[in-house]
Amino acid sequence: MAGRSRSSSPDTRAVHTGEEPRVDGSVVQPIFQSAMYEYSGAEESEPRYIRYGNTPNQATVEKKLADLEGGEAAMVTASGMAAITTTLLGLLSPEDQLLAQPSLYGGTHELFTSALPEMGIDVTFLEGEDPRHWETQLDGTARVVYAESISNPLMEVADLEAVAEFAHDHDLVAVIDNTFATPFNFRPLEVGFDLSIHSATKYLNGHSDVVAGAVVGPAYLVRRARGRLKQFGGSLDPHAGFLLNRGMKTLGLRMRRHNESALTLARFLEGRDEVSEVNYPGLPTHPAHERARSLFDGYGGMISLELEGGRAAAERLMDRLTIPVVAPSLGGVESLVTRPAATSHAGMDPEERRRLGITDGLVRVSVGVEATEDLVADFEQALEG
Ligand SMILES: *Cc1c(COP(=O)(O)O)cnc(C)c1O
Repeated sequence: MAGRSRSSSPDTRAVHTGEEPRVDGSVVQPIFQSAMYEYSGAEESEPRYIRYGNTPNQATVEKKLADLEGGEAAMVTASGMAAITTTLLGLLSPEDQLLAQPSLYGGTHELFTSALPEMGIDVTFLEGEDPRHWETQLDGTARVVYAESISNPLMEVADLEAVAEFAHDHDLVAVIDNTFATPFNFRPLEVGFDLSIHSATKYLNGHSDVVAGAVVGPAYLVRRARGRLKQFGGSLDPHAGFLLNRGMKTLGLRMRRHNESALTLARFLEGRDEVSEVNYPGLPTHPAHERARSLFDGYGGMISLELEGGRAAAERLMDRLTIPVVAPSLGGVESLVTRPAATSHAGMDPEERRRLGITDGLVRVSVGVEATEDLVADFEQALEG
């Protein structure tokens, strides 16, 4: 099947890569609910054990994801944060510098401002968009630069090509969190990133019933992360791996609908008087629209917006919506709405939150795969209320 996977489209590869050999003819790979495996000694270099990340349900997802992202190897983990911490702690030692984009997923931001500095890692947030200015921020011990393909919750798209080029000019490992874009919309390794990380909890699984993570990249870097995985133990359980693999088979179908519905809803919201701001990279009014258009195959399913009426109007809107569930997280088949100031970014210092533009009235929408017209009608009635 290697020939088919090289030549075919992502939809076909998402269904078939990693599925063979079939066990006892089973079309769907069974759950290998076994912690350890028979060990024949000399001929195998390493015993198989779930924590080592070398069991069948883990390997299938890894092959599929490496194929979809265009990477040599992949490693799955027990959560997105496990992927981030395991990867970074394989690359960084005390006194090393980590350069990072300032607007990040709340959990990552917290990691970068508390646990990593407490371990002696110097985290520096990149200022502005000019690589010549970033050079002045290097302290001679820099090892890694860290970005997100689409930032949460403001949906900014940084100059990702400039970040990757800067990393290579200065011998840094370029790491990106590609959760929001997914390999269906964007493959960071193609523009020069070394490692692409996912919270597979979101679009990769797509059904809001698994917590998982992954990292994709060249084999030598993934091997480093795997060494840390064995020590830190954030490995993916086989049952979660089975569910994640099942979810990933429909990634293309789902992403196409997320892309289309979110663009339609963003356009609708932008035209409404009650709405003062819509953040969506697919809108021509988005500051990085042209960049997103050249980098991405679709703009994803995440929108954030502000209402003229501020926080009170935001709370009223969330209250009146009947289809989206008010819940944190994203990337599932059901639409979700949250107020990031009260959920994903609640742990951030309020002053810092305001500085980054995350107001108390900001509403984030994860546009699901319900009928587009139903979602638009629901937002319409909720805004009119
Ligand atoms: C959710 C999320 C994470 C953390 O993933 P978990 O699976 O919850 O550990 C990291 N990055 C981004 C962009 C996310 O949305």
